Amino acid sequence: MAEELTPMLRQYRAMKRELDGDALLLFRLGDFYELFMDDAREAAPLLGLALTHRAGQPMCGIPHHAIDSYLAKIVRAGKKAAICDQMEDPKTVKGGRMVRREITRIVTPGTVTEETLLREDAANYLVAVVPEPGKGEAGFVLGALELSTGEFFCEKAADRAALVSALSRLAPGEAIVPDGEARSAAGGGSAAPLPPREAEARAALAEAGVRCTTPVDEWYFDPEAALDFLLRHFGVASLDGFGCGGSPAIAAAAGALLRRVHEDLRRDVGHVRRLSLRASAGFLALDETTRAHLNLFPVPGAAAVEGASLYEVLNATRTPMGARLLRAWLARPLCEKAAIDARLDAVSALVAGRSALTPLRTALAEVRDLARAIARISLGRGGARDLAAIAVALRAVPALRERLAPAAGASALLGDVLAGLRPLPELADEIERTIADEPPALLSDGGTIRAGFSPELDALRAAQGDGRAWIASYQASESARTGIKNLKVRFNRVFGYFIEVTASQLGAVPPDYQRKQTIAGGERFTTPALKEREALIAGAEEKALALERDLFEALRGRVVARTGDIQEVAEAVARLDVLCAFADRALALGYVRPEIDEGDEIDVRGGRHPIVEQLPGAERFVPNDARLDRSARQILVITGPNMAGKSTYLRQVALLVVMAQAGSFVPADAARIGLVDRVFTRVGAADDLARGRSTFLVEMQETANILNNATPRSLIVLDEIGRGTSTFDGISIAWAVAEFLHDEPRVKARTLFATHYHELTDLALAKPGVVNCSVLVRERGDGIVFLRRIVDGPADRSYGIAVAKLAGMPEPVLSRARQILANLEHNELSEAGQPAFAAAPPAGAAPRVRRPRPSADDRQLTLF
Ligand code: ADP
Ligand code: MG
Repeated sequence: MAEELTPMLRQYRAMKRELDGDALLLFRLGDFYELFMDDAREAAPLLGLALTHRAGQPMCGIPHHAIDSYLAKIVRAGKKAAICDQMEDPKTVKGGRMVRREITRIVTPGTVTEETLLREDAANYLVAVVPEPGKGEAGFVLGALELSTGEFFCEKAADRAALVSALSRLAPGEAIVPDGEARSAAGGGSAAPLPPREAEARAALAEAGVRCTTPVDEWYFDPEAALDFLLRHFGVASLDGFGCGGSPAIAAAAGALLRRVHEDLRRDVGHVRRLSLRASAGFLALDETTRAHLNLFPVPGAAAVEGASLYEVLNATRTPMGARLLRAWLARPLCEKAAIDARLDAVSALVAGRSALTPLRTALAEVRDLARAIARISLGRGGARDLAAIAVALRAVPALRERLAPAAGASALLGDVLAGLRPLPELADEIERTIADEPPALLSDGGTIRAGFSPELDALRAAQGDGRAWIASYQASESARTGIKNLKVRFNRVFGYFIEVTASQLGAVPPDYQRKQTIAGGERFTTPALKEREALIAGAEEKALALERDLFEALRGRVVARTGDIQEVAEAVARLDVLCAFADRALALGYVRPEIDEGDEIDVRGGRHPIVEQLPGAERFVPNDARLDRSARQILVITGPNMAGKSTYLRQVALLVVMAQAGSFVPADAARIGLVDRVFTRVGAADDLARGRSTFLVEMQETANILNNATPRSLIVLDEIGRGTSTFDGISIAWAVAEFLHDEPRVKARTLFATHYHELTDLALAKPGVVNCSVLVRERGDGIVFLRRIVDGPADRSYGIAVAKLAGMPEPVLSRARQILANLEHNELSEAGQPAFAAAPPAGAAPRVRRPRPSADDRQLTLF
């Protein structure tokens, strides 16, 4: 093998050089795709393969039939793979020549379209970031292409933080970046630095967790070349019609993306029909931290707790398109009353016509992934099953229309959806007439085209069928002629048709049989008659396959010509599916329609936490009211013992806002939401070790971000900020932050502020917009019972020792703590121990100075 391996490795190395960049090369060798050298070292642990050595080189192999599951692992790890296939049958290669091999496919995380490699309920974007040109300009254009559906858009981000937030919302599989020859990092230490804006863009990609970045030719990003490419692709004179005209950065980002996919990866992009500029206004902004703190989506890779995210609670969608759109709506709720009301009207209409809802959702389930099926067909990667899926989907449309029609009168949005649901019956007919009922996965398997569609194909198939009948009768007649009872006419791939005779019967073999092969229990023969027949059958099979391919391609072409229409249907289905899911959840979980207005009040009656109330095995959920505005109830300071329900309450209010502005009903008896432009959350003392930053530093960075970016329309949730440092530091920072939020007119945002620093309840004395709230508990002996009710007024004390008792702390520790607490309550603090804010408060706003009330908090006890 070593002799053979060496020239082959030479071929391998040449191929590896041809590949730009860092793709793993999967090199077909017999029944395996092999990886060699560095690729093997990298891939073996990633794919769980054993590393072996041949001719001194490490290698590992993937069985060719299992390649999809390995590709899925590669792509999920953010890696690329180049697939190198044998372009000729090794058996026909003679004289030590190498088998001709070519790279037939490059699979990258942001450009995969195969069902097996994609998550059904999440979009998969390839993105490009281009800094907006101009001096003093801080903005970026973010271009995104979803190849598996043809979605293509740009967004503007005002600064780096907005860019990071947009990137983490889209969670792209891959980004392309310009690869300047001059500053290619490959040269090692001598690499020239990136221009500062470009460096900022790269840093944002890293910060947002984009794992796969692919360098492409720098000129792909040249605005003129990129614009030219886009204009030719769309066949338009300018991008004005897409709302994307006149912006070199948009042209550069979008053009580079499309050129990368079309020219480097040689993928057909005919299904990419339009480019849009997504407005950044009109949406409720949620940064990455907030999305995570509110549990909007399941955490990838984390141990899954069923229903532990808002997405999971609300995901009653029936199609993958709907599931993907639901994600997009929750990640980016609206901030315009008219648009939100349009969705709420639609949900109301569906709830009102509830008897139609179940049949509507049943019909939706028929549609499957129409968006990705048509994309695959356009890309030339789809097969007969994708065409069949399109026909099935189109067949479901009339039923959807019929069931939707009554509700569509009551909602403009449902009216739009109805208009988009065009059944395209001619197309469905044509597909059904052409494609067999259960077509095979591969055209080469035969049987794709329906019997009766083509007389010519039917004749060829009959010839094959006749051939088989002939062979059966030939076996019978030869058996009779020779007297060999167990004589068999068989077939295999290598030898074609042959007659098999067992060893004991070899004496009876007639002279006209020609020996072909000796096997364990006998011999195999052929005859001139059998050879002639074999040629006929094989010819018919080949011709039939070629004809099937032609017929399939003709149909594919006609379907591709209708891509735009089919995409429109897919979009309408997606919207209808999400709206039906909202209606279904509203009915099943007792949600009500929120009232949206442009005022500054948030008024929730009997609100519930949508996720906590659904957790299996949880205690009965106690509903609570919430009232916030920008005058008398601007900041609610919420105190109460640990575990009382403060954090749950805070998130509940924020989640209700997110749900309402996404167009969903909400878990409450009644809710009125004065539009919110951004939700900010900061949860103290949550470890962020994954990002390698100190907890307290992160806490302060996030708090700074809030103070710098919140507007009077924002909703701020601060949960135990200042916890990550010493008690007095923490109180001082928390106090100053609350004061700033109250006094600074640029901010003055509605704020929920949970704290275990009891001192902060004094803020209400000095600040008219601050209201104290607390979570009720009932004392029982020296223990407590949580009532889970939020009421106005401060908690009377912090119950730290009672909570410690609940936690099972040993009795001696508890009684010692009670003793220390009693001592502390008797002795005033020394001068040195006084909180810093007590020293020189601004006149008129002086907090009443008291000693801190210690809780069982260990940090606090260590102070004394
Ligand atoms: P805190 O922030 O005050 O320490 P949490 O909000 O973390 O308390 O709540 C503690 C537990 O109480 C949670 O696990 C939650 O399941 C439960 N809980 C909170 N609020 C309610 C409620 N309104 N009804 C029922 N259970 C609740
Ligand atoms: Mg808490």
